[in-house]
Amino acid sequence: MGALGEALTAGINVVPFTWAASPAATEREIVVVDWLGKALHLPKSLLFEGGGVTLLGTSSEAILCVLVAARDRKLAEVGEGRRVGHLVVYCSDQTHFAFRKAAHVAGIGNENSCAIPAGSQDMYALPPAMLEATMKADAEAGMTPLFLCASIGTAATTAVDSIHELCAVASPHGVWVHVDAAYAGSALICPVFRHLVNGVEDVDSLSMNPHKWLLSNNDCCALWLKQPSALVAALGTDDDVILKDTAATADDGMLVDYKDWQISLTRRFRALKVWLVLRGYGTDGLRDVVRAHVRMAAAFQDMVGADARFEVVAPRVFSLVCFRLRRPTMTTTLPEDNELNRRLLAEVNATGEGPYMSCAVVGGAYVLRFAVGSTLTEERHVRDAWKVVQEHATLILASSMQNMHA
Ligand SMILES: *Cc1c(COP(=O)(O)O)cnc(C)c1O
Repeated sequence: MGALGEALTAGINVVPFTWAASPAATEREIVVVDWLGKALHLPKSLLFEGGGVTLLGTSSEAILCVLVAARDRKLAEVGEGRRVGHLVVYCSDQTHFAFRKAAHVAGIGNENSCAIPAGSQDMYALPPAMLEATMKADAEAGMTPLFLCASIGTAATTAVDSIHELCAVASPHGVWVHVDAAYAGSALICPVFRHLVNGVEDVDSLSMNPHKWLLSNNDCCALWLKQPSALVAALGTDDDVILKDTAATADDGMLVDYKDWQISLTRRFRALKVWLVLRGYGTDGLRDVVRAHVRMAAAFQDMVGADARFEVVAPRVFSLVCFRLRRPTMTTTLPEDNELNRRLLAEVNATGEGPYMSCAVVGGAYVLRFAVGSTLTEERHVRDAWKVVQEHATLILASSMQNMHA
């Protein structure tokens, strides 16, 4: 469906930068992102009727755009004499690097970008008490807390930050709260995951990539936000060169000109492929896809748990399992242990027809990451993948024992 949508989009090749440039594509985008928001159980305040909805290329873009909107809104609010150098942004040390990059592009330096440590005791979620203490200290030191990037599904372990608690901390400071749900946002289509975004009514914006786990082809990032006027104030442009609808200008801007919501002028008709995916699979069909992937990942996790040589490193929430070989002996050091796991991943990935896994370093430990996300994956692939891991583990552990005794 997604690929067909891409083909049609290429064929039609409209450029919906203003409503007038392509009313159909603009309206389709509004309708489709609204449908998707409803399917993901997002509140009215983030949908079209209470806020604003759009499709961008990537989460990195979405985060940058809302950060710039928040920055300009805050600077206008706090008034003369306050500069970007007074603003502080917050995330956890598990937050995707896209946020650090966005802050950098938005002119907020490393010294004003605060990454709160989120360790295994917090299941790698941002600890609200730490955020509270940090924001308070910053405010007392004369700084202005600006922005919090919370995550539903961090990149390394898919940790879930507590939106409700974090908003309670951030709101008194007038901080813009964004939720980066690039990968795991898709899971919100299943009611069992809805509780993970409790408190989402209080956030200012949320973005997720249907191209990661919701069967829409690259590139596709949906963004919902409470106050699109902040985005337009920061990124809007006025130039006679641009085709505008006179009715739109007369009609106090009720029509959406998406060029004012993003960095570039030119944009693609991404809504068509999302429309096809939503109409083709339906909410129920997409739920089935997500459920099947989560079930297969859970099965993989059980297989890891049943082999005493391995450990599951972080609790699995969605369809990603983080695991590693345990230290083979009491005297094995962490660097040696990491080296064994690195070798294991390299050998698993080198198997011609075998699985392909990725890695992360979590709390100093090198972990392997097994993710299910393709419509072609079946249970037998998961079982086979685990067999490949076990076989290579046996060989690697045997040779490391030999070396130790040599
Ligand atoms: C993939 C991912 C990103 C980056 O997404 P892009 O669309 O490639 O910019 C950001 N955050 C999280 C949590 C991700 O999983």
